[in-house]
This record gives sequence, C-alpha cells and structure tokens, in this order.
Amino acid sequence: MRDVDVFSKLLCLERPWFVERVILDSEDETVHVFLHHRSNARFRCPMCDAVLPLHDHTPFRKWRHLDHGSWKTWLFARIPRVSCMFHGVRQVRLPWALPNSRFTLGFEKHAIDTLLEADVSGASRLLRMTWHEAWGVMERAVARGLKAKRRRVIPYLGVDEKSIAKRHRYMTLVCDLNRGTVEFIAFDRKKSSLDAFYESLSSKQLEGIRAVAMDMWEPFISSTSQHVPDAASKIVFDRFHIMKHMLEAIDAVRKSEHRRLLEEGDDTLKRTKFLWFFSEENFPEEHADRFSRLKSLHLKTGRAWAIKESLRDLWNYQRKGWALRHWKAWYRWATRSALKPVIKVARMIKSHLDNVLTYCDHRITNATVEGLNSKIQTIKKTRTAFAIATT
Ligand SMILES: [Zn+2]
Repeated sequence: MRDVDVFSKLLCLERPWFVERVILDSEDETVHVFLHHRSNARFRCPMCDAVLPLHDHTPFRKWRHLDHGSWKTWLFARIPRVSCMFHGVRQVRLPWALPNSRFTLGFEKHAIDTLLEADVSGASRLLRMTWHEAWGVMERAVARGLKAKRRRVIPYLGVDEKSIAKRHRYMTLVCDLNRGTVEFIAFDRKKSSLDAFYESLSSKQLEGIRAVAMDMWEPFISSTSQHVPDAASKIVFDRFHIMKHMLEAIDAVRKSEHRRLLEEGDDTLKRTKFLWFFSEENFPEEHADRFSRLKSLHLKTGRAWAIKESLRDLWNYQRKGWALRHWKAWYRWATRSALKPVIKVARMIKSHLDNVLTYCDHRITNATVEGLNSKIQTIKKTRTAFAIATT
C-alpha cells in the first residue's frame, strides 16, 4: 500500500477527500499530511445543506492530529468555499475538524480524555500543547455539551466536580454511571453549571432518572431538587466523597498531633501521612509491621483512623434499618472522640443522613470506570511517594 493510502485509511477519510502526499520531516520529527478533494466534488452550504459546486479555496490551513509515536502529525488542506444564494460565500464543514479548531476531532477527543484524568497543566505537558490550547479544547467541549440534545434516558447519574487548574477553578462533570461515560461538562461548580445539563433534558428524560450520586455540595443539591421529580428519594451522597472528607479529618488530626509530639522531641508520626489513608485490607505489606506498631501506640491519629474504618461498614448493610443502627453507634463514638475534625465530619454527615442512607435503595457510587482508574493511579502514586519518603 502506498503511504498516501495508508494515511487515508488511518484518518478514515471519506469521499471526496483523499491524502495527496505525506512528507516526513525527520529533523523536527513531524509528519505532514496534505489532503485534497476530487476536482468535481460538490459540497454543502454549512447553513442550509444545499449541495453546491466549488466556489474557491481558502489558503492552506493546518490541524494538529494524533501523534504517531514521538512524531507530531499535522494535516494540511485548503478549505473549499461554496457560494450559496441565501448565505453567500461560506467555508464548508470538514469531516476531520470542527470550524475554527486547530485540532482534528481525533486529537480533541484524546485531549479531553487526558484533561479529565489530569489538570490542565499536566494534560498540556502530556499532549505537547500550550496551556491555552488545552484550555481551548476544554472550552469547545463545554460549548458542545451545552448544545447537545441528549436522546437516551439515563437512569443513574453521577455528578462530580473536578479541579482543573490552580486558584480553585473547577468543572462539573455528569456521568452515566451504567455506561461509565462522561455526558456533560461545564465550567465551574455552581448551581447554574448543573442546571444547564438538566435543562438539556426532556421531561420524559427527567422523569426517567432513578438516582443521582453526588457530593454533599449545596449548589448540586438544589439544582437536582429543582429539576428532578421526587429528588429527595433519588439523591445519594457518594460514599467516596464522604470517605474523602473523613480522610481529610484524619490528616488534620495527624498534623496537629505530630506538631505536639515534635515539641516533646518525638517524631513517631514523621512521614506517616499516607499510611493512614489505607484501609485495613488494602494495607501495603511492606509497611504492615510499622503500621501495627503505630496502631498500638494509642495515638489520636490511630483513633481517628479506627473511626474511619468503622464508618466504611455503613455501606455494607442491605437494609436501611440496620444501616441506621450502625450509624447511631458510630455517631456516638465519633462525637465523643474529642477529635474536632472528626466531630465536624460526623455532624456534616448527620445533617445529610437521609440522602446518605438512600444508598441502601439505589446502591450507586461515583466510582465509574474512569474514576476507579484515577483512584488506582492515585494509590500507585501515593505508594511510590511513600516508598521514596521512607528509603
Ligand atoms: Zn445556504
């Protein structure tokens, strides 16, 4: 097969488009792919879809496409223009890129997947693009999300926030929990961010929502309450978010205890931060001895950790009544622990308890496929970081 045919296949080009020539620049490690169309091709007006003959071309434009190994790939083409009697002279739609984008659709999709797994700086490094380019890809994805008409009923939704850049810039993500797909993204994590998703749904689709997993975040709660019928029985506060609050509480206890111990010249808690994030059954073997010694010391941090471990049982009950009994005993223990950060989390969960226990009815969490992957990544990173810290 000739190289131009190989690239036509790789790019999934359809008539009238084809690859005219391919130039490899080994100095720059770039692949330049020149696209052209058949000379007799007719194109559609982008406004009214009328089929029209070619009017003229724009000068050459280029689009970044998916890398081939370490080689960056650029597509080059002159964009055909048509002259519509209603809409004047217009550039036609291209099968490989959206209007005004400097990236191919394939590249944008890959960039969005990367952006959802990392923050903007991390993604831009991996994708070898500038911060602003990565941000632009995200912005266009958000705009497409707002315009998209969804047709399916999505029974189980996960609403999540994701920090995407420094200075507390967030995105709101809506996932289909059954399929593990991202359905919608919006900038920010305000009520209006999530409103935009619900407003894109028909009343039948809104009625078809059986449950929504989310963090105890007021704007998301009020948006869901306003749009989803009978939301009170359908909101499930996500267990992973709740456990995250609990882990933060343990860390706050550890920090202040470590400070106090250091004043007495005791560095027992030094470099133990990540140890307390593990649960009993996932404990890395190489640190097991050290951790059981730590646990036997009757530290405040150890107590906070034990309280956290017990909270996890809340999600093991099949019946709400049993879960509620476990909750009451746990709440007594947590609030009498004299550990301020733990008490604060316990009270926060209590004020949202009804929609924590809805888990017994719906059994959903936000640990979608991607979520799980990134959690696994975090654990791997944490373990490596810890191994480095202790050696
Ligand atoms: Zn037209």
